[in-house]
Amino acid sequence: MGRPHVLIIPFPAQGHVTPFMKFAYQISDHGIKVTFVNSDFIHEKLVAALPDEDEARSRIGLASIPDGLGPGEDRKDSLKLTDSILRVMPGHLKELIEKVNNSNDDEKITCVIADSAFGWALEVADKMGIKRVAFCPFGPGSLALAFHIPRLIEAGLLNTTDGSLLNHEFICLAKDIPAFISNRLPWSCPTDPTLQEICFRLAFKAIQVMNLSNWLLSNSVYELDSSACELIPNILSIGPLLASHHLGHYAGNFWHEDSTCIGWLDKQPAGSVIYVAFGSLAIFNQRQFNELALGLELVGRPFLWVVRSDFADGSVAEYPDFIERVAENGKIVSWAPQEKVLAHPSVACFLSHCGWNSTMDAIGMGVPFLCWPYFADQFHNQSYICDKWKVGLGLNPDENGFISRHEIKKKIEKLVSDDGIKANAEKLKEMARKSVIEGGSSYKNFQTFVEALKQ
Ligand code: UDP
Repeated sequence: MGRPHVLIIPFPAQGHVTPFMKFAYQISDHGIKVTFVNSDFIHEKLVAALPDEDEARSRIGLASIPDGLGPGEDRKDSLKLTDSILRVMPGHLKELIEKVNNSNDDEKITCVIADSAFGWALEVADKMGIKRVAFCPFGPGSLALAFHIPRLIEAGLLNTTDGSLLNHEFICLAKDIPAFISNRLPWSCPTDPTLQEICFRLAFKAIQVMNLSNWLLSNSVYELDSSACELIPNILSIGPLLASHHLGHYAGNFWHEDSTCIGWLDKQPAGSVIYVAFGSLAIFNQRQFNELALGLELVGRPFLWVVRSDFADGSVAEYPDFIERVAENGKIVSWAPQEKVLAHPSVACFLSHCGWNSTMDAIGMGVPFLCWPYFADQFHNQSYICDKWKVGLGLNPDENGFISRHEIKKKIEKLVSDDGIKANAEKLKEMARKSVIEGGSSYKNFQTFVEALKQ
């Protein structure tokens, strides 16, 4: 038999591709061959944003299959995209596996590692008699709730179409897991009911096919959330997955990283900078965008703000003036090397949307959070950050649902002067560090998994 060869297939979104890529590198460091499969559309983005040294192509095999939509079709139409994926990708995946397996007897694909939202890929592998692994890019708390969906529906507590709560304000799974609040469930999308239905359907489907997988991996740390892990059969926490844990630093970005911000951070005083980033999907309307800009200006501290090209909807008329006014204190980039930023001694806190990967990044670096969740599991992640781990503060909207510049200023000042939160963040950093070194829980789980792959 040749060396083990795994095929990895993430859901087509940055917050899924990134942890999968970090994981791919980690297993490739252990002598396992990896073929990383994206849709053609995502593959093109990755290749366009590849760093010059082109480290990815030399270490990981990048492959792609069609998602069924034409090049110019709107992939922000989630319903159309998910229907198309389900219709065409299983067939293309099967063909790809057959092609690889027929071309080289020594490097046949021995295992498929699929996104927990891609149950269909596990079904393809199952039918082909190949080992199967589900990888969950969000936290165990959200996954634990997903595992309870059938029971909650049976008890009449969940709407079967969009997963909203019926007759209850919240659900409590266990004493140590923050309550799941109505409209702030892991599939909640307050501004987009169709997306909520899709997210709920994906979560429901994910747990239905979980029994097809030989393992379930999670980008988390057992000690961070042992109660939730205990509710999930066969989960192996192997996080935090950080690019700095493997050889090379490629993180599978869709956008070019602007590394000039590291030089800028070098010039700022230690513990002074507010890092502001809302991941890859959050979109602000013009009024809220302006209010955030004015809030950062009002605070008067140095800030590094990631403003993606598609971050604001509508025109942001005052923005050029703002940039001129804050030129001395502020640095704006369209995509940052986030791990390196969070690890930088100049950073004081992270104004974040609380996406699970960003949460793991900042926990791994010991940075306190100011939470501004946007949708889905980000709400519950905020509950962990503020109520369970006590490493951050939340922002309260005004009577019109907006977060005002004054609220931003007040909470940043409160956060940076809170020594208790800083100490808790340091403790979690240490816990995360210990989990991935020899003898730690994530280290042991990862070794167990890699050894099993080699058998
Ligand atoms: N990220 C980055 N640079 C940025 C903003 C984000 O590298 O300027 C990365 C971040 O490290 C994380 C991912 O993008 O791995 C975002 O995932 P997350 O789950 O936090 O949010 P999502 O994009 O899914 O909403």
